[in-house]
Amino acid sequence: MDIHISRVHYPVTTLGPGKRIGIWLQGCSIHCEGCISMDTWQFNTNKVSMKDLKQVLKTWLPQCDGITISGGEPFDQEKPLSELLEFLNSYDKNILVYSGYSFDVLKEKKLMQNGLIDVLISEPYDHTQSQTKRLLGSDNQKVHFLTSVGKNEFTTYLEEPIEKKLDLHITPETIWMAGIPVDGMNEITQASKENNVTLTHSQAVIKK
Ligand code: SF4
Repeated sequence: MDIHISRVHYPVTTLGPGKRIGIWLQGCSIHCEGCISMDTWQFNTNKVSMKDLKQVLKTWLPQCDGITISGGEPFDQEKPLSELLEFLNSYDKNILVYSGYSFDVLKEKKLMQNGLIDVLISEPYDHTQSQTKRLLGSDNQKVHFLTSVGKNEFTTYLEEPIEKKLDLHITPETIWMAGIPVDGMNEITQASKENNVTLTHSQAVIKK
């Protein structure tokens, strides 16, 4: 089976407790206004075989504290997502999955009930809402503990104050970040301007 992946990274320290593997799936049909990951919207690109992806993940899984899967929209690739989750669960690490779908849409799905996801964050990003809670881009988003592991590992973490922290990966051409920036990209863009740095952030490239 193949899967469309935007990127994978380890360690990610801003999307859940501990040092985590971050897996961003490629392709999103939801298109929230103000999304900071528009480069992940395009479908049918960045295809990798599940076998190759597992090989990469195997190098990090023994030492990671957990895994965070985001996107893009993970549930727009439901079958590959399911196979990926089954593989990850063989390592006994907590798994957080983000989705921009509402819980009403997701709740009947098998993946909500089979114990493969420990914590789900649902609902689309809404840039008009306030942002006061850890791990959430906007306060309309909802956290669901789908297993006791999820509840045990995330309850205290989520009660801690929101932190202004991002993981950055810098190349000569780009700065790639993981985490939830406060106020979307506005605060980062403003701080950059004040320091005479011009930032061009990711744009949607939608090809039919
Ligand atoms: S915030 Fe997430 S669900 Fe919304 S458009 Fe961006 S990638 Fe898609």
